[in-house]
Amino acid sequence: MQISQDAVVTLDYRLTNDAGEVLDASEQHGQPLAYLHGHGNIIPGLEQALAGRGVGDAFSVSIAAADAYGERNPALTQTLPASMFGGAEQIGVGMQFHAQTDHGVEVVTVTAVDGDQVTIDGNHPLAGQTLHFDVTVREVRAATTEELDHGHVHGEHGHQH
Ligand code: ZN
Repeated sequence: MQISQDAVVTLDYRLTNDAGEVLDASEQHGQPLAYLHGHGNIIPGLEQALAGRGVGDAFSVSIAAADAYGERNPALTQTLPASMFGGAEQIGVGMQFHAQTDHGVEVVTVTAVDGDQVTIDGNHPLAGQTLHFDVTVREVRAATTEELDHGHVHGEHGHQH
C-alpha cells in the first residue's frame, strides 16, 4: 500500500545538516522508526515527502526550517545569574536542562557562560536549520483501531504498552 492518512510507516533514515554532519540516524537507535502517518508524529516536511511512497522507496529530501523544527525565536534566549544553576563552576556551554516554560516543560541549552551570567536558549536544537534526510521505506500497513485511538504506533518499533 501507499503511504496515506492513518498508515503505519516503518522507515530507516539518516539526518544531516548543511555541513553534512550526521545529526541522527535510525541505525544509531538500533531499529527503524515507526510512525502513524497524518497525526503530526514527525516533522511536517518529512511527513509530506513520505505521502504516496511505498515499501522499498528510497529518497533524499531537504526540509526548510519552517517545515522542520521552525525558525529560531530570539525571545526564547535569556541571560540569568549563575546562582540559579548552582553557581558558574557547575555549568558549561552545551549543557541541557528541562525547564518549566509558558509552553510546558522544554529543553533549554546553555549557549554562553560569562562571569556569573549564564545564557540559555529554549529553541529546539534543530530550530532554524535546513534538515537533509535520506529515507528508505521499510514497511507500510494500516493502523489498528487502538493505534488510531492513541494517535501513535504500537508493536515492535512503536510503543509497547
Ligand atoms: Zn498507545
